[in-house]
Amino acid sequence: VDSPTATDVRSDFPIFEEPLEGGKPLIYLDNGATAQKPRVVIEAMTECLSRYYANVHRSKSRLAMRVTEAVEAAREKVRGFINADDASEIIFTSGTTMSINAVAQAWGPANIEEGDVIVLTEMEHHANLVPWQMLAREVGAELKFLPLTDDWQIDLDRIPEVVTERTKLIAVTGLSNVLGTVNPVADLAKAAHAMDAKILVDGAQWAPHEPVDVRELDLDFYIFSGHKLYGPSGIGVLYAKREILDEMPPFLGGGNMIDRVYLDHFTEAEPPAKFEAGTPPIAEIIGLGAAVDYIRNLGWEFITAHEARLSQVAHAKLSAVPGITIYGPAPEHKAAICSFTIEGAAAEDINFLVDRKGIAVRHGHHCTMPLHDKLGVSATTRASFGIYNTEEEVDALVEALLAARKRLKLD
Ligand code: PMP
Repeated sequence: VDSPTATDVRSDFPIFEEPLEGGKPLIYLDNGATAQKPRVVIEAMTECLSRYYANVHRSKSRLAMRVTEAVEAAREKVRGFINADDASEIIFTSGTTMSINAVAQAWGPANIEEGDVIVLTEMEHHANLVPWQMLAREVGAELKFLPLTDDWQIDLDRIPEVVTERTKLIAVTGLSNVLGTVNPVADLAKAAHAMDAKILVDGAQWAPHEPVDVRELDLDFYIFSGHKLYGPSGIGVLYAKREILDEMPPFLGGGNMIDRVYLDHFTEAEPPAKFEAGTPPIAEIIGLGAAVDYIRNLGWEFITAHEARLSQVAHAKLSAVPGITIYGPAPEHKAAICSFTIEGAAAEDINFLVDRKGIAVRHGHHCTMPLHDKLGVSATTRASFGIYNTEEEVDALVEALLAARKRLKLD
């Protein structure tokens, strides 16, 4: 079988079939914010909603059994996707933000007390920063930060000074949503475990770009969202090792998470039900399963090679735009994410002007205000690439930026 091309992949995504308002083809370079959906995901969700929708785990009707089987099949697909040991370690949540907050609010107070340390990095998304600030404030713990090198990578030489016996958790992003840095998660897991601490990895950006094996990396918690992984929004994953889930208190009370309820108390169900109170996002779970299948069929070999090439090309071609600064490590150390500023141009104006050419990018602090403080700018423009993007689209972005320079009278 011939390996796929970006053009083949593109034809799997209905959004690219119709031009944008104004007749321009869509050039979608905002994959870091959310990714487009392939037909197989849309169809899997539509099929569930139109042919076999019912509530899960509730009834012995054939309809309910079919939908329950489909949901559990999706859980098994996600288990395979990250090579977890057992499907009961896959908890469905509404997304990365909810998964991290759930760990902070349920595992946190049971395991972190006054004087303990939570180690983060200077490149975290607010979703992997604020929940830990809230926990630290609640229990009297301290936050410490692994600093970044001049090349925008985590400074591993600083581990001995930052990660100590007081450390109970290292929480780190697998891939920075601004810098594109791919972090040395295996090293950080070892550093955490050497101190009897746990490691949590925010895979919101990492999951769509590189294969992750939670057992090989020895991750305690691994978290990601469906919507950046070519699946639906409203669904995310919280993976944790089974022994952690057995000990961790539930974070939501209600139906499905119980074994037995009395008027004044309850006993807990086993994981994953213990952490899935209430009716789950049924069609979204099935859509996520289809997205995981889609990625698996495409193959990581294609995805990583295609995106590495795009990253190199984007870096080289964007670097030639006058006045540009691209933030992040050298392209061989990063994923296909380019955050940049152009001297004399506001990030918002660049965003507006390239949008007129049919190119969707994003501007702002990308939910990383402390990182932007460190970069010394309040906002960047970010082009973030995915499986369907092409080198021609990089050229179109460069042309649009050159035209924007003219419009802004920088030339
Ligand atoms: N972490 C990182 C690194 C992200 O890029 C994002 C999404 N921008 C999140 C967490 C939050 O993900 P979600 O909005 O899907 O909860």
